[in-house]
Amino acid sequence: MKKKKAKIRKKRNSIKKTRSHSSLLSLLIIIIVITVGFHFYKFIHHEIRSIVETPKTDTKKVPEEVKGKISPNYSEVYRVPILLYHYVEYVADKRDTIRQSLNINPNTFELQVKTLSDAGYIFITAKELGEVIGGQRELPKKPILLTFDDGHWDFDTVILPILKKYHAKATAYVVPGFLNGSDFLTDEQLRDVINSHLVDVGAHTVHHVYLKGKILPIVQYEVNQSKHMLENKFNIKVSSFAYPGGAFDQQVINVIKDAGFTTAVTTIPGVLQSEQNKYFLFRLRPGYRTGNELLNYLNQTQFKPY
Ligand SMILES: [Zn+2]
Repeated sequence: MKKKKAKIRKKRNSIKKTRSHSSLLSLLIIIIVITVGFHFYKFIHHEIRSIVETPKTDTKKVPEEVKGKISPNYSEVYRVPILLYHYVEYVADKRDTIRQSLNINPNTFELQVKTLSDAGYIFITAKELGEVIGGQRELPKKPILLTFDDGHWDFDTVILPILKKYHAKATAYVVPGFLNGSDFLTDEQLRDVINSHLVDVGAHTVHHVYLKGKILPIVQYEVNQSKHMLENKFNIKVSSFAYPGGAFDQQVINVIKDAGFTTAVTTIPGVLQSEQNKYFLFRLRPGYRTGNELLNYLNQTQFKPY
């Protein structure tokens, strides 16, 4: 009798062991699949190095699910134009229509900075605007932000000398996975930009990925990792984020908030910024306007962000 019971116990134990072995094995397989899949994902994005945003494809409206969370009675609203730039260069390849549509030539850019400076505008950074919204800093009388997306090489060779000439501060949204690529800043150039002490560096995902509707692990990776890569490599604090293509949803906002960013900028037109929209700040494309045309454009009131 005793022998029989012992035998049954032995059998049960061995079944338990096989079960735990097989569940361990499936867990291992799942981990391997996720790891390999993620590396494949990183490889694909790293190799493509593509930037496909254009003024036409940019997001122009606040998503409904985000809009629903805005309180209509919120009063502390700041009027702060945030200008959106990409390339500032003389585009050599006339067939490159995307580059041309996003470009402003260096002469025009300098005239714009001069116009704003002469008109008494004070150039602040995204980090400083975050501090204003957070109640830690006073807003200057006529504030404005110059922001540049993607971290192209011309930021160091063309834009920075103009910023230095006018002592104008700016914010550069960099894609760390693309640094040292043929069309982008090198590490050394970005160090030069940071050492000017005129430029706040923000994150723009690791691989310029449109985040709207993506699964959570990808959003978390692209947001958190872009911040860590820039902070660790360049010994800076990254506090602002720009959505590639202006594409975001509530899930993306939650990840941005959890990552510790104080602001995030969109491609939605508008000039009114507040605590309520600190994770979807509005921006304007100055285009080729200079002089009074630019000043009148900034003074208009019909931007309808919501
Ligand atoms: Zn971009």
